[in-house]
Amino acid sequence: MKLDTRAIRYLTAEDWRVLVALQQCSAGGESLSDADSELAQVEVGSKNHEIVPTPLITQLSGLRGGSGVDKSISSLAKVGLIAKVKNATYDGYRLTYGGLDYLALNTYRKQSSVYSVGNQIGVGKESDIYVVADPNGTQRVLKIHRLGRISFRTVKTNRDYLRNRSSASWMYLSRLAAMKEFAFMRVLKDNGFSVPEPIAQSRHTLVMELIDAFPLRQIASIPDPALLYAELVEMIISLARHGLIHGDFNEFNILVRETRERTRTPTPTASRSRVRTPSPSLNSNPAPKSDPSPSDSALAPLSESQDVTEQFSEGDQAPINSTSSPNPNPSTQSQNVRLIPVLIDFPQMLSISHPDAQSYFDRDVSCIKRFFQRRFGFTSDTPGPFFADAVEPRQLVKRLDVEVQASGFSKKIVKELEAHLAASRLEPEDMEHPASQDEADDASSSSETSLDDDADDSPIYPEIAYLAATTHKDLTEAPPKM
Ligand code: ADP
Ligand code: MG
Repeated sequence: MKLDTRAIRYLTAEDWRVLVALQQCSAGGESLSDADSELAQVEVGSKNHEIVPTPLITQLSGLRGGSGVDKSISSLAKVGLIAKVKNATYDGYRLTYGGLDYLALNTYRKQSSVYSVGNQIGVGKESDIYVVADPNGTQRVLKIHRLGRISFRTVKTNRDYLRNRSSASWMYLSRLAAMKEFAFMRVLKDNGFSVPEPIAQSRHTLVMELIDAFPLRQIASIPDPALLYAELVEMIISLARHGLIHGDFNEFNILVRETRERTRTPTPTASRSRVRTPSPSLNSNPAPKSDPSPSDSALAPLSESQDVTEQFSEGDQAPINSTSSPNPNPSTQSQNVRLIPVLIDFPQMLSISHPDAQSYFDRDVSCIKRFFQRRFGFTSDTPGPFFADAVEPRQLVKRLDVEVQASGFSKKIVKELEAHLAASRLEPEDMEHPASQDEADDASSSSETSLDDDADDSPIYPEIAYLAATTHKDLTEAPPKM
């Protein structure tokens, strides 16, 4: 599912009203506020009432019937924002993910949270990540949740439970995932955790601070693995002391930011930049005065790293296959570098009171242990950390899980999302960025903003070696009933 913003500036006021009307009938509805109406929307979605007959569209949009509405419907259908569905009893239209994307972007545009949309920089199991810019040219990240596009291989019960969902109810779940992620990010940021700043949330999407860093997965070597390991373990413990478990604490979800005192001439950061101006503006207005792509911006490569962890069995030393230049003088250069881990990806976060809390905590810990062992050949001498120690009443600092729940995530609402997330958590890690080459080719050829062809993968700081980049792969989408 590509985010193609080309048509957005040509939509008329009537077109937007028709889109909103369709959204009211789909489970992605923005107007929902309390638990009961949210659950009612799931019902609507699951019964396929998302297919809205034309007279109802006219009524809901508040437009006068006739050629105006018909024109809007046909132009929206032409660009794929709504889709015609022939039902047994009546013909109608439903909102597509594309239409829901536009509604979210329109909200951001009105709030001035997003002015333009740039490259896709990430594809997760069930999300797409884009670089966007605000009207001042500050780059941000837009995360679009796309639940339902993969079919899980594990957890039969959940699979059956989720299989017969309509597209509208997937939209609804995606929206819950975005809301949940935003709420957790907010509370984590407010409590001093190293996470991106959450900026805005609409429908199945959220906007957050862009972290100028590579995921840990893409790092082949670092000067002091013990130090980074200790910080990550500390982060897991600190989360637990705040009532929380990340639930997917792995090398994909930890971005490692480098800071350094500039005591020597650094490699020009621009050479690392892989993302260009988020150029397609959402407005028909002229471009903002400031350049949305500062020349010294250095973003992580679009590509995913080589999958070295899968190449050898547990316990082996990682045969690091880095094409980055070797560190010419690690002892002098490493002194000034500081690596700051930034945690991302929160829809699956869970409370320490969750019945399976201990096993998720242990899994987060073992993911990091295994990764450090395989990638950096580092094994900690210290056993643990152990769940029981971390959540001992004396150790608890604050219950952020309770705080977030009180802010609107009632048990009733979360239940459906939880069933899905339980399946997601149990998927093998290689599902995080699975893919087909076709989609990757498609992505690069259709991209409106090109990759920086001149950019190489040389690290900014030579003491940190990065893995050679491979073509980023996309998912083969299989959205149900889309
Ligand atoms: P998913 O839930 O699909 O795994 P993530 O939130 O983990 O999605 O994002 C997928 C990838 O996108 C990450 O591994 C990272 O490379 C990139 N990414 C996500 N958020 C940010 C951010 N705020 N700044 C920079 N890169 C990001
Ligand atoms: Mg992730």
